[in-house]
Amino acid sequence: AARPPHFNGLPSNTNFPNNPKANSFNRRQKIAQQRKSLPIASVEKRLVHEVRNNDTLIIVGETGSGKTTQIPQFLYNAGFCRDGKIIGVTQPRRVAAVTVAKRVAEESGVELGQRVGYSIRFDDTTSGSTRIKYMTDGLLLREALLDPYLSRYSVLIVDEAHERTVHTDVLLGLLKDVQNKRSTFSNGCPNTENKQLSNGMLLDKGGGVFSSNLKQSQSRRFSTLKLIIMSASLDARAFSDYFGGARAVHVQGRQFPVDILYTLHPQPDYLDATLITIFQIHLEESPGDVLVFLTGQEEIESIERLIQERLRQLPEGNRNMWIVSIFSSLPSEKQMRVFAPTPPGFRKVILATNIAETSVTIPGIKYVVDPGFVKARSYDPAKGMESLIVIPTSKAQALQRSGRAGREGPGKCFRLYPESEFEKLEDSTKPEIKRCNLSNVVLQLMALGVNDVIGFDFIEKPPRAAIVKSLEQLFLLGALTEDCKLSDPLGHQMARLPLDPIYSKALIQASQFNCLEEVLITVAMLSVESIFYAPREKLEEARTAMKCFSSADGDHITLINVFRAADEFLEKRKSGQSKEKDDKVLKKWCKENFINSRSLRHARDIHRQIQGHVEQMGLHIASCGDDMVQFRRCLAASFFLNAALKQPEGSYRALASGQVVQIHPSSVLFRTKPECIIFNELVQTNHKYIRKITRIDYMWLTELAPQYYSMQR
Ligand code: ADP
Ligand code: MG
Repeated sequence: AARPPHFNGLPSNTNFPNNPKANSFNRRQKIAQQRKSLPIASVEKRLVHEVRNNDTLIIVGETGSGKTTQIPQFLYNAGFCRDGKIIGVTQPRRVAAVTVAKRVAEESGVELGQRVGYSIRFDDTTSGSTRIKYMTDGLLLREALLDPYLSRYSVLIVDEAHERTVHTDVLLGLLKDVQNKRSTFSNGCPNTENKQLSNGMLLDKGGGVFSSNLKQSQSRRFSTLKLIIMSASLDARAFSDYFGGARAVHVQGRQFPVDILYTLHPQPDYLDATLITIFQIHLEESPGDVLVFLTGQEEIESIERLIQERLRQLPEGNRNMWIVSIFSSLPSEKQMRVFAPTPPGFRKVILATNIAETSVTIPGIKYVVDPGFVKARSYDPAKGMESLIVIPTSKAQALQRSGRAGREGPGKCFRLYPESEFEKLEDSTKPEIKRCNLSNVVLQLMALGVNDVIGFDFIEKPPRAAIVKSLEQLFLLGALTEDCKLSDPLGHQMARLPLDPIYSKALIQASQFNCLEEVLITVAMLSVESIFYAPREKLEEARTAMKCFSSADGDHITLINVFRAADEFLEKRKSGQSKEKDDKVLKKWCKENFINSRSLRHARDIHRQIQGHVEQMGLHIASCGDDMVQFRRCLAASFFLNAALKQPEGSYRALASGQVVQIHPSSVLFRTKPECIIFNELVQTNHKYIRKITRIDYMWLTELAPQYYSMQR
């Protein structure tokens, strides 16, 4: 079929941010206009004034009013970066940190990485001249390990605080403490001589107050930290109370009416319903872009394929749909595509995870399709098991989602469930800290010197049982000593790696099994979603392709095979070619082999980064060659908390939790069903499925994890 070239990319006449041909003068004028028309622009002076007068400020403002992109620029222009200090802005989501930083760099007319930059795990674009730094909340927590007073920052903005991710919650506690300490220091305490010179004089008069250089630099390092907590919803009270009655201000937004439509009956297959609704809008509604909320990369990619398929069946004149997607593991150069203007005569359909709920605002949206689901972490402290589940959104989320349709004019939101269901939704989402495994957080807090994690000043306490369970797990992994201190060196090394503690443990002990090379690849491949893909229309071909990589020992070795095959292929092809050529060649190879090229590229990036960390730690990267028993023993020694035994009827019993689970059909061990296995993922749909599985020998558990298996069983 004659498909217009638009579908795979942008027509060349559109002003794409990275398009050097774009008319940059016009674009800058347009941006200046857009900025001026944002609701927040009219209150710049007032906001700066509030920040000057309050060390802690809560800012609540409707989504899209300009908080994230504008406030850091206001503060920069008001001189908050004097003395080379930095304004830091944390985001719960990587994509938000990246796209917002790019936008703000463009708005300020600077190159990304100069005055404005971002830093997220495995990707840092900042430089010595960066003054406005967007980052994930998790990344700032890690920075605190190296710089406990966060002394480079004059202002820290915790954005999207309403999301209440576990990192945001921990960060709030940490920043409260850092702020206290810094103001104590900047007021001259604990050094009594300095005390008399307090009253904020140090800040204003700079170096003039002290004679000794040493004292001067100390006072500067510990100048007051301004804290701003930003949130999209009206829960300012909780934040304000937590910060001792901190001042809260509200920024007015603009909102046009949005028609909410419900289905008459519950939808048995929400993906199918989504597809039908997208086409219903496309064929029957007036022009305007569509935003569709899905739960993850896999779902987005499969819907995208289905839309393309169905488009091909439409008459030529109706194929003017442009599909873009946004989710966290999308390569960062692709993420900006969602913001590109819709080509004339086309309808843009944006397939997004809940990242588009409040974190990023895409202009031009008139229709929202909300199936009503979100992927969330869920944790059972009694069993010590974390899983990913797809759950209904809360009312607050449903409202945020529908609000996205009414930013520029009246809009419509299609909720793919009956109205009676809406009433049954929870009012708001439970903070993540109450429903996730806390091992990572506990390890980090301890590395920050917080020894009494249970007594830590959380904005909302996690369940005590969950903290105790993670202390227990960390002890079993060897990160803690018997008297509950971070062990040396293992605990400290584990805290330094930006990974889940069990992955860090696997890497660190891989040297003993002579298989660090294999474990590095494994950890990188486990960090991305869905390496394989199997489109419905080519299921058999895809299965055959997958067989070439399969290992009878399980999914981990299968993943290693894919990674290495790609490497070898590139190696063969490489004749001093550029990275872009590599990517292109790799993409083709992926397509032929039914490998998800986005995921593989992401995994290769992560691999490079972790390798850097591991080398810095002085670990020796060796390979076990063909002796995969060594590798599987290493997995058993690392993931012994996730071991499971086959039951007579073919399901499995997880040894640590006693839960009955099934092998997911995507696993290479789905049919062979070995006696004893370890697994890395638990996913709950209508079944409790485990994925990423490797066959092990039960005896290895007692041999390699006696601290657990001899005392428990
Ligand atoms: P808030 O943080 O209050 O939700 P933002 O500062 O994220 O608001 O967004 C302000 C405005 O900037 C919105 O109108 C949004 O559409 C626009 N915007 C943000 N990022 C981009 C981008 N990359 N391209 C075009 N417009 C953008
Ligand atoms: Mg924002």
